[in-house]
Amino acid sequence: MNLITKAKIFGVAQCYMYTIEWQKRGLPHAHILVWLQEALHVHKVDDFISAEIPNPEEDPELFNCITTQMVHGPCGVINPFSPCMKNGRCTKRYLRDFLKETQTGRDGYPLYRRRRPEDGGFSTVISIRHSEVVVDNRWTVPYCPLLSRMFCAHINVEYCNSIKSIKYVCKYINKGSDMAVFDVTSSDGIARNEVNQYEMGRYISSNEAVWRILNFPIHERHPTVIHLSVHLENGQRVYFTEGNAAERALFAPETTLTAFFRLCNEDEFARTLFYHQVPSSIHLG
Ligand SMILES: [Zn+2]
Repeated sequence: MNLITKAKIFGVAQCYMYTIEWQKRGLPHAHILVWLQEALHVHKVDDFISAEIPNPEEDPELFNCITTQMVHGPCGVINPFSPCMKNGRCTKRYLRDFLKETQTGRDGYPLYRRRRPEDGGFSTVISIRHSEVVVDNRWTVPYCPLLSRMFCAHINVEYCNSIKSIKYVCKYINKGSDMAVFDVTSSDGIARNEVNQYEMGRYISSNEAVWRILNFPIHERHPTVIHLSVHLENGQRVYFTEGNAAERALFAPETTLTAFFRLCNEDEFARTLFYHQVPSSIHLG
């Protein structure tokens, strides 16, 4: 995030949001969305994102990283048991078509340049199920050469221009925790109680447990969005119990709107601001 927001490797980032996700035994991975101040022009996409195997002689380090981290599958006829296969088709739409030049897609996603070996594209040989398979640019997952070179991890970078990607990132915060079915047995390995035999419980891997114990962020967004309430006089929502009903009626809890009125009474500068300007002005001190 520092590389993106402070070192500005894609240009000035206006807003961002990310969610950290675990998949059972996996290490954490992040889904990051970045809004750039200056939208990336389509003929600039190639400067930041590549979907091609790098030149092994020019940059052997990047070549090794991409061929080990960023090759999809292979799936399809070569490997029908790949986890991405459903009803005989790859759910991630691989292998992709060769393409001479990057093109803007109709749904907001561009089609990246994937040159044929005849047009100067590179390929590599990987072994799958004890046989050697030649992999070319049709199998490369789009990546950012700079990020891949720095971290040599699976970092899929794509240009997107659709509201759907926000939904996708938020899905991970709203889907609830990972679940697992486990059985409880005694040390001799025999289940004593059929009800206990298959329990359904929340699943937290050791990686996730450490992440949470150390209070690392799970989700962040910038800028922060603050909900400002709007209501008629004495029309705000008030929660009360039998015990505090009288007190709540006498001293209704303050809302952002009543706090704004109070602030304007006390502070001369606040009177020059509109309601929606107050949260960011307070932030600036
Ligand atoms: Zn696949």
